Amino acid sequence: MTNEPEQGATPMSIMDSLVRGDRAHPEWLWRSGSLVPWAESSIHVNAVGHASVASVFEGIKAYVSHDGAGLLLFRLDEHLRRLYESARIVRIDIPYGIEILRAAVIEVLRANAYREDVYLRPWAFPAGIVQEQMVPAGVICELVVDSWTFQSGLGTERGCRAAVSSWTRINEASMPPRVKAFSNYHNGRLAMLEARENGHDWPILLNERGKVSEGPGACIALVRDGVVSTPSTTSGILESLTRDTSITLLRELGHTVVEREVDRTELYLADEVFFMGTGWEILPVTTVDGLQVGDGTAGPLTRQLDTAYGDVVRGRSPRHKDWLTELPF
Ligand code: PMP
Repeated sequence: MTNEPEQGATPMSIMDSLVRGDRAHPEWLWRSGSLVPWAESSIHVNAVGHASVASVFEGIKAYVSHDGAGLLLFRLDEHLRRLYESARIVRIDIPYGIEILRAAVIEVLRANAYREDVYLRPWAFPAGIVQEQMVPAGVICELVVDSWTFQSGLGTERGCRAAVSSWTRINEASMPPRVKAFSNYHNGRLAMLEARENGHDWPILLNERGKVSEGPGACIALVRDGVVSTPSTTSGILESLTRDTSITLLRELGHTVVEREVDRTELYLADEVFFMGTGWEILPVTTVDGLQVGDGTAGPLTRQLDTAYGDVVRGRSPRHKDWLTELPF
C-alpha cells in the first residue's frame, strides 16, 4: 500500500480499506476490558491529536520456546510495571490492576492463536474527546493491547551503521526519557531521519551534557579492552529491560560491566558497540560516524551476549525462568 490516495478514492474509501485491513493485523485486540475485533476498534477522529501527547506504551515480546511447546513472554510483569510508572509520571490513570493487564496480554495471544514470535504493544490514551489541549491530570484512560508477529534477529549475522546525531536527546528537565511516551519519539524520529539522510541506519543521541545517551529505540553499550560500559540510567535513557538483562547475563559470563557517563569518542575507540532493546534485541553496531568498529562484524562479546539472550528468551537456558511467562500451545 502506498501513501498516495488512489485515483478517485475518497477519504472514506481510504479509511474503509484501512479498516478492512489491507495490511497485516491481528484478528483481535484488547480494548478497555475485553477482546474486540480489530476492524471494530475505531475511535472518533477528534480523539487523536492532543490526546496522543499524553499516551504511554510498552513493547513486550513473546518468543516461541526452543522446544516448540508454546510461547514465552519475556519479563512481562516488569514491562507492565514500567507502563504504570510511565502513567504515574505523566499523571494519567490506568483503570486496571496488573492482574487484568497480565490476563489481557495472554488473552490477546490466545485469541489470535499465534504460533510465531509476537510483539505486544499495550498502550494507554486519555479516553473520550480531549477538549483541553494540555490533557488534565488524573484523566481516565483507555487501554489497548495490540500485537503483531516479528522476525527475530537473534542468532543471525547482522549489524547496523550508526551515527551520532546533531539532535540532542530529550532530558529530565523537559521531557523525561524515563517515560515511555509516544511523544518522546518525536526526538528519536528526527534523529533517525537525519541518520538515514546521511546514509546510516540508526542515530546515537548525546544528552544535554554532550555524553552518550541511547538510540531512538534501544540503549547502547561499548566494549573496550574487555570491559563493557553503558550510559547510566541518569544519562537520559529509558530504563531498558534489555539493558538490565544484558548487564545480568554479561556479568554471569564473567565480564565486567560499568554503568557510567560515556563520551562520544569512546565509541570511536571501542572494540565492540551494540544496541539493546526489546524490539532491536542485541544489535551489533558495525560503524560509528563512518569509523569501522572492530573488524566490521559483531564482536566476540556481542555474539556471546546474543547467544545467551536467545537461550534465555527461548527457554533453552536453565537460568532466569522467573523472567518467563509460559503459554503452552
Ligand atoms: N530506549 C528507548 C528510547 C526505547 O524505545 C527502548 C525500547 N523500549 C529502549 C531504550 C529499550 O527498552 P527495553 O529494553 O525495555 O525494550
